[in-house]
Amino acid sequence: MAWFKRQEKGIITPTEQKKETPDGLWYKCPECGTVADMGEHRRLLYTCGKCNYHDRIDSAEYFEVLFDDNRFTELDTNLSSADPLHFVDTKAYPQRIAATQRQTGLKDAVRTAHGLMNGQDLVVACMDFRFIGGSMGSVVGEKIARAIDYARQHRIPFLMISKSGGARMMEAGYSLMQMAKTSAKLALLSEAGVPYISLLTDPTTGGVTASYAMLGDFNISEPGALIGFAGPRVIKETIGKDLPKGFQSAEFVLEHGFLDFIVDRKQLKQQLTDLLHMLRPAVVEAPAVPR
Ligand SMILES: [Zn+2]
Repeated sequence: MAWFKRQEKGIITPTEQKKETPDGLWYKCPECGTVADMGEHRRLLYTCGKCNYHDRIDSAEYFEVLFDDNRFTELDTNLSSADPLHFVDTKAYPQRIAATQRQTGLKDAVRTAHGLMNGQDLVVACMDFRFIGGSMGSVVGEKIARAIDYARQHRIPFLMISKSGGARMMEAGYSLMQMAKTSAKLALLSEAGVPYISLLTDPTTGGVTASYAMLGDFNISEPGALIGFAGPRVIKETIGKDLPKGFQSAEFVLEHGFLDFIVDRKQLKQQLTDLLHMLRPAVVEAPAVPR
């Protein structure tokens, strides 16, 4: 029976004739393996319908999640990195920047914007992990600092969405200075009585955790996010002890008092709206800020 036995040998289907599912139609959850179509995945705001795994998303998606009708004004769109140290690793730094900009369509690892969230003004700074691991260099620091100033001058609550491997090594000391700069700007925002909410998403590590990400009036996180300063291997080797289970997960960090609450992305917009409503009297009653 020819149906069951291949009689001719050497039949090969060329790759271009193989019928494969086109990319981008299906999403497979890396946690539980459930397959969902992309439309459904998008409708669930890029979380898994079965195990609630929160997929990593970029600033474009967060802006869409938060801003009414996806309408917002982006701030400081044209800042781009210089090469103060003439840094070269496998590539010269300016080339790496140019290549990443082409690949991602982004200028650097953070975008800042002003828009309405359920009718309330909000300034958001959101990091993009795709841009050199969401690393914090002088452009990231400067854009965040300017967004904080903007929020303070207009008395609009500020939301920072962090997603970063930490400081950008190609700018070394200049990157580290961004920690002090953003922290100082946040202190001014706090003095002015304008609320600051910090949302930590997967992953938030290094100099970002050690500065603005942990300085919110509320520090909140998405479920399952990795939050830490140094990586687990470095810590294990330093203290010479095994680390507890779930170490550096958002849930562990919450239990140890470093987070105020964990929020499901599907409830993020509403919960932020409610939180800012509660904080509103503080914004209205605080004294005017000298410009
Ligand atoms: Zn899943």
